[in-house]
Amino acid sequence: MQKTVRTITVILACLLMSAQTALFAQTAAAKRQNAIRVISLNRVQFLYMEDVARFYGLKMAVSGKTITLSSKYSRLVFTNDGRVATINTVGQYLAFSIRTYQGHVLLSLIDFQKVIDPILRPGTIPRHVVRKIVIDPGHGGKDPGCQGGVVREKDVNLQVSLRLADLLRKRGYTVYMTRQSDIFPTLDQRVNAANKIKPDLYISLHCNATANPAIDGIEVYCATATGSAPSDSKVISTKPCPANAYDLENAYLAYHIQKRLVSAIKTSDRSARHKRFKVIADTAAPSILVEMGFLTNAADRQGLAHSQRQMLTATAIANAIEEYKNAVAPKTPRSIAP
Ligand SMILES: [Zn+2]
Repeated sequence: MQKTVRTITVILACLLMSAQTALFAQTAAAKRQNAIRVISLNRVQFLYMEDVARFYGLKMAVSGKTITLSSKYSRLVFTNDGRVATINTVGQYLAFSIRTYQGHVLLSLIDFQKVIDPILRPGTIPRHVVRKIVIDPGHGGKDPGCQGGVVREKDVNLQVSLRLADLLRKRGYTVYMTRQSDIFPTLDQRVNAANKIKPDLYISLHCNATANPAIDGIEVYCATATGSAPSDSKVISTKPCPANAYDLENAYLAYHIQKRLVSAIKTSDRSARHKRFKVIADTAAPSILVEMGFLTNAADRQGLAHSQRQMLTATAIANAIEEYKNAVAPKTPRSIAP
């Protein structure tokens, strides 16, 4: 095992995070107190969790394998050796398992930078206007997607997409769709169309399927960050994809869509996840793919075929987009007195 230990101060941590914070103005003593130690194990950089807790002003508690960081406002729960955390009760996949080293709990630097920090400090996300949104109803035409009984994924995807488009247009967004009927654009056509439009957000809607009919729930995906492993693998993605220019935006939006969906719909929280599905990896915009439920599960299938759950799903996503839009809105310039 290769290891090196070093210390990063808040200034370095901020540089690593590209954060614009007032912390630069801290005194030297305060900087030392806020230092986050970094250790490299098998060429992956980890941070001391106790330092991360202090950085955010959170209290850290360890009970068996469970590590909790909490304050009046936030609660992060991690499991030693585990890749699934919860942030304010919302499931979140990490790139690397939580581990301990010489009695210290460790969180990977990339999970801190690309997952935890944009959610806890949305002020670090680049400001931008959210006006143009591309909605991508998965599959279509000759490609039915997955199927549960008589319910076809391509139909559910389109029905929810049309509801979402309608809600967003009523709220003033300009909405484009990669298909508005039962046709089959290829993945390349979907990506190329989106990249021509240069949207502010790209949302792809899908339904899930698996061999075990007991499995239900919602998964929200964004592209795996470079240097991270996707949620279904331990193989690190070494080359960037176009959506990686928006890793912070993706993390924040995925978290809020997952949060809104699991609180609106009675089904399992299968966590916000990372995977480079072509449509969300190759689109040059903050891009999210939503797996709205399992068509192989009876309750999810019945719900997804029904207008009530379709509307709840569309509304939850629209509300999360609105929350994102407000969080990243450019600061309004101060008016100049005449
Ligand atoms: Zn699909």
